[in-house]
Amino acid sequence: MTYLAPCYRYNDGTLFVNDVNIKDVAKSHETPFYIYSATQIRQNIRAFKTALNSALDPQNYTICYACKALNNISVMSLIAEQGCGADIVSGGELTRALHANVPPGNIVFSGVGKNDQEIEHALNSKIRQINVESAAELYRIEAIAQRLNITAPVVFRLNPDVKAGAHEKISTGQKENKFGLNAEQVMDLYRYAENSAHIMPRGISLHIGSQLIDMHPYDTAYKIAADFILSLRSEGFTPDTIDLGGGIGIIYDREDAPDLAGYAAIVAKHIAPLGLHMMFEPGRMIVGNAGLLVSRVIYIKETDSKAFLITDAGMNDLMRPALYDSVHPIFEVEKSDSQDTKSFDVVGPVCESSDVFSLDTALSADIAKDDLVAFTGAGAYGATMSSSYNARKIAAEFLVDGDVWKCIKRPITNEDLLQFENYTLKSDD
Ligand SMILES: *Cc1c(COP(=O)(O)O)cnc(C)c1O
Repeated sequence: MTYLAPCYRYNDGTLFVNDVNIKDVAKSHETPFYIYSATQIRQNIRAFKTALNSALDPQNYTICYACKALNNISVMSLIAEQGCGADIVSGGELTRALHANVPPGNIVFSGVGKNDQEIEHALNSKIRQINVESAAELYRIEAIAQRLNITAPVVFRLNPDVKAGAHEKISTGQKENKFGLNAEQVMDLYRYAENSAHIMPRGISLHIGSQLIDMHPYDTAYKIAADFILSLRSEGFTPDTIDLGGGIGIIYDREDAPDLAGYAAIVAKHIAPLGLHMMFEPGRMIVGNAGLLVSRVIYIKETDSKAFLITDAGMNDLMRPALYDSVHPIFEVEKSDSQDTKSFDVVGPVCESSDVFSLDTALSADIAKDDLVAFTGAGAYGATMSSSYNARKIAAEFLVDGDVWKCIKRPITNEDLLQFENYTLKSDD
């Protein structure tokens, strides 16, 4: 059997999220919808902290949750309550982080294309640091800080040229990628920043990729980062911060569990002795296994060669299989009494050949229209990547805490979206 996170269990043949029966939620709410476990999110944070604390002094680090993984404000508040800051990648995420009561002093702003308004918003909000990804960006930040008559705290994103990540589309730390700066560029910009009245350089950041199960790339990259800190110091600079990025993987299907203690040991070996404040930016590992996408079977379609299970969830709801060939195992919410299985290609209703969740998947032979199914591992990069493609609604989101559940986002319907379109013009002429 494939992986089910601890927050899910079958009770009398029916799938529960903690103490909530998914069928109860589906009784009063349309599918597809996302459902998250608060307990699992807290547990994931605790597991990460436990691993870090076995090797590091908790005073010396801050966890800044990479909220692009799941930026629902209720979820972000829950994570902030656990003492985490936020890693944001847009002005919209800054607004969300502030709404979720993340202290600005624990917000870091990453991304290659921050525009002027976003930079100004970040500086006015007094966030901890902007992670600079280009010379042009540094000069924009300097000009805006000068106009506001303030000093902007920045770190520079070092691209260590290390291969990492489960898929080429989620590898970010190689020199071909758009992210970060090479060592020579960082050194030049650091020198420039030291001489600027409106920039305060605080150190460096790096983020090498996502869904890392093998921790070796961190070993390589963090060694490079540590050596670079030493070369900054030999130039007479006094960095106080190193932002170590995110990227730790999760079990989706049959992966090994990532070795969190091994990760902490790598940090302790290369980074802790530098005496800098360390920042971590986990996204996926905080929320990934804590979310399900619940859907209903619309049709079973048989062709000469195949049987298709057509679900009411599609690639607009969960884009990862189409974008990254990711696997989100499917579970039947109500287990069949019969042991007979049959092989299906599980597909969505969207008019794209890539709207496929999985091929040749064994499911109950008697699975039928209207049966509920759940895709696991949908907490990270699920709802945040959803769209209204094919004029489909954007799915609702629910949060479970123990035996309590609540709607934390209502669906965005086609009627909602029509309000933004000017379609009365035609009748006017
Ligand atoms: C996306 C991102 C993260 C989080 O990555 P995960 O793989 O979800 O942990 C962290 N830092 C930066 C700069 C990112 O872009």
